[in-house]
Amino acid sequence: MHVFTTVHQLKKFLNKLSNGQKSVAFVPTLGALHAGHLSLMHHASQIADLVVVSIFVNPTQFNDLKDLEKYPRPLAQDIHLLTTNRVDVLFVPPAEEVYPKELKLVVPIDISHLTNVMEGPNRPGHFEGVVMVVKRLLDIVTPNYLVMGQKDYQQQAIIGSMIDQLKIPCKLITHPTERDKDGLALSSRNVRIDSHLRPIANTLYLALQRSITLMTSKTAAEVAKIASEMISEKGFQLEYFSIVDGNTLQPIKQWEDSEKIVACVAAWLGDVRLIDNIRLK
Ligand code: AMP
Repeated sequence: MHVFTTVHQLKKFLNKLSNGQKSVAFVPTLGALHAGHLSLMHHASQIADLVVVSIFVNPTQFNDLKDLEKYPRPLAQDIHLLTTNRVDVLFVPPAEEVYPKELKLVVPIDISHLTNVMEGPNRPGHFEGVVMVVKRLLDIVTPNYLVMGQKDYQQQAIIGSMIDQLKIPCKLITHPTERDKDGLALSSRNVRIDSHLRPIANTLYLALQRSITLMTSKTAAEVAKIASEMISEKGFQLEYFSIVDGNTLQPIKQWEDSEKIVACVAAWLGDVRLIDNIRLK
């Protein structure tokens, strides 16, 4: 695996190697890699000639400075995982490579219609930071495919909208969520779940699955209420359980309102914030 820390080195390598002939799949990450990330890389290796991964703890997407400082950075372990998982190129830039002084920091599109719900109000400025960094990384890597996880449903929907609006010649591939045996969505935060709370951590997934079975007999509002109660009763602090249109991310009222419906949830288990989602239709 080739490891680069500067934009110049990376671009030089990609230009020389691909020479416009080889297809590139790109997987941006914050590091602290787990099997969920690796499933994206595995998929990337199946659809393109070259897999490029970035590890960059992007400061502009953290609205909480403490969270940024606390973010795990096990780089040696990550590099070991990547070398054993068919990744061709790792880009690990310092912040000044991603955001050089001469580059004007701009959010390249209006995303307010997609950030006024769910994660948006809870994490002000987060998606603006994500859009900024992904646009910059796409400009640097110019991949044919961008591979992201469904786990962060709102994130991939916003990036998909950016790619459409800016007509970026790159196809977004959204990969299904990788889960533990009991259904808990894999996340870098899971290691922080208190061991006595771990047995109930899959409640979010169970509530999402229950929503699917309830759809035939209940309204969307009723389903959201039952699922929310199921989560709260176990002792989670629920932030939201939303049933939304998969593209606009706005809540739906009737099941017939949309062709693509997703249930999304965020809740605190002790001091760990968990998110998950499931496609209902
Ligand atoms: P992160 O490093 O947390 O920003 O995640 C990098 C990418 O991995 C994002 O596209 C996430 O949606 C994706 N991802 C995170 N957890 C999972 C998971 N459990 N299954 C599949 N993809 C995931």
